[in-house]
Amino acid sequence: MPYKPSIAVGAVMRILLIEDDLPLATALGQCLADASMATDHASTLEEAALLLSTNTYAAVVLDRGLPDGDGLTLLHRLRQKGDGTATVVLTARGDVQARIAGLDAGADDYMAKPFSPDELVARIRAVLRRNGSFQGREMACANLLFDLDNLSLRIDGKLALQTTCDRAVSGCLQRKIAQTMAAHHQPAACAI
Ligand code: CA
Repeated sequence: MPYKPSIAVGAVMRILLIEDDLPLATALGQCLADASMATDHASTLEEAALLLSTNTYAAVVLDRGLPDGDGLTLLHRLRQKGDGTATVVLTARGDVQARIAGLDAGADDYMAKPFSPDELVARIRAVLRRNGSFQGREMACANLLFDLDNLSLRIDGKLALQTTCDRAVSGCLQRKIAQTMAAHHQPAACAI
């Protein structure tokens, strides 16, 4: 059954997962969802290029061995046109020369298969932190502090939202702020 993109409850970051191994893509999509990261999936360079042309992603997880070419060609094109989307290359080609080629093509990180999904999630968080798109399990905006684990909101340090309805609204606000942050790759200066 084809892997369908998933959206995690409370997800705040959208990741493009470019991987032609569908069971692996499905497993990674679940791992990322568990880490509050929503994913879109592409199996080929062509699909990935289309998604990248119509969506903004906080990060890309990029396989190299794809049916229509080396993932690094896509990364090289992105960097050439000034697209700095954080990218973690994930590939069976883990030798030193391959790693150097990946980093020189513009990868923010490079992981060789086999790998630990938990380590991949941690590395994605690390590259997101480096470009300012992710600040951990809490998201601050002016005097507001959202807790991504329990969907609570504090205003000036005081817990403000408690009801189910309020938490739903809080979740919507978090996602909206995260979209703004991802779109501009910088902390949002938002007005609520
Ligand atoms: Ca592959």
